[in-house]
Amino acid sequence: MRYPTIAISFFVSCCLLINSGSSVAKDSVSESWRKANSLQILNDFRDLLSLPNVAADKAAMNKNADWIEQYLQQREFKTKRLVAGGAPYIYAELNNPAATKTVLIYAHFDGQPVIADKWTTPPWQPTLRDNLVSSGGKAIPWPTKNSEVSEESFLFARSAGDDKAPVIALMAAIDGLKHAGIQPSVNIKLILDGEEEAGSPTLSKIIAQHGSLLKADLMLFCDGPMHQSRQRQLVFGVRGVMGVNLTTYGPKRPLHSGHYGNWAPNAAQQMASILASLHDQNGKIAIKNYYDDVRKITAVEQQAIDAMPNIDQQLKNELDIHSKHMKHTRVENSVMEPGVIITGIQVGSTGDKARNVVLPRATATVNMRLVANQKPSDVRTLVEKHFSSLGYFITKDEVTSEVLKRHHKVLLLNWGDSGYPAFRTSLASSMARQLNRILEELDGRKPLMTPTMGGSLPIYLFEQVVDAPIIILPVANHDNNQHGPDENIRIKNLWDAIDVYSAVITKL
Ligand SMILES: [Zn+2]
Repeated sequence: MRYPTIAISFFVSCCLLINSGSSVAKDSVSESWRKANSLQILNDFRDLLSLPNVAADKAAMNKNADWIEQYLQQREFKTKRLVAGGAPYIYAELNNPAATKTVLIYAHFDGQPVIADKWTTPPWQPTLRDNLVSSGGKAIPWPTKNSEVSEESFLFARSAGDDKAPVIALMAAIDGLKHAGIQPSVNIKLILDGEEEAGSPTLSKIIAQHGSLLKADLMLFCDGPMHQSRQRQLVFGVRGVMGVNLTTYGPKRPLHSGHYGNWAPNAAQQMASILASLHDQNGKIAIKNYYDDVRKITAVEQQAIDAMPNIDQQLKNELDIHSKHMKHTRVENSVMEPGVIITGIQVGSTGDKARNVVLPRATATVNMRLVANQKPSDVRTLVEKHFSSLGYFITKDEVTSEVLKRHHKVLLLNWGDSGYPAFRTSLASSMARQLNRILEELDGRKPLMTPTMGGSLPIYLFEQVVDAPIIILPVANHDNNQHGPDENIRIKNLWDAIDVYSAVITKL
């Protein structure tokens, strides 16, 4: 099942070997330095990954920030903790007297909450395995010597892939360059987010208060997974995100399904038909006017997608899938479209816990991914109109007995407050071309130019204050299980990230 992936990564390693006498050795961290320091780098990463990092736990996030600040200060970064009521952010800068340009790098150090008993090993106890858990990977001992761990092994911990690796890899790049006597060609600024997985609720305040710190000639977002082919990739957009919780209502108390099943309104049934109404038979969103604002894909964007290896069949094999949600759309095109994704449904019990009752309520969560030009407020209006058209009384307030008695069907909506729009920029800016060349010089292979990734980052906030191209440079493997149990990073991705960052900060 994993043969195609292995073949591709072997090819990349071969290219690295062929080119190792030229650009890789000259301007980036040499492989020999990295090998001679791999144990220290892994130990540092293990220390950072051992710190629990759910954004809601501010005390824990401050411990993460303490660790990271001292790690940066050891490399002569000036650091500053930025707080605006939520988890901490870290701003840091390392100036180079010879530099005329500044690169601003974003990464985040919080992680998604965990369900610990779903993990094969505890989420904050970093563990190495010789393969992915889903491919039967076995635990291997933590190394005691340099270069003991195979590049094709995986390190498991919350945030291993999303998104603590950039701090470790960038600092390793700086150490390696210093060892080689090479100065970065740019000033480096970092903005590290301690609450990204919670929707960065205070980022707008942080930017309002400290936006002047963020002046740069290029902003790199170092987050997200690389392409499924394991090829290097530059990404020029992210999708926006918002979500809504839905509740439908049946009788005030559970009723016997035999006596009342044909008589009482059924919350489970209502929820099922509401959710079924969201898409048509082809997987397209069936909400009226939903596609009206969606920015059309340009010829350049479509050409870039067409030039990528098509990994749909490989993914279908890997994931035991026969047919895709949108049958004729390859994965890279599917993320150019908005998504309305049902992520949770809760009502009653099933199987041997099932009871024959008609229940008072059913809930569901729908996650929406927005694409360029869609506005969260307009999306909200369209979705609410859609629910109204199904005959529901829509409310956002507490649903009382009075409300239930007065209306034919009631739907409670809770939109939360973490929605934000997408971001998509040109593939043809001069910075994009420079970065493309720098990555190509690493091993002779052109990086993939991806118009947008499927996930979301709050780039729109930075777009308002950073007067420079914003480009996403992901380093994690696509199969890193981010947000789920057994999150990981492939060791070769960590080593490659060191090469990528050192090339970027010396060749721009
Ligand atoms: Zn992330």
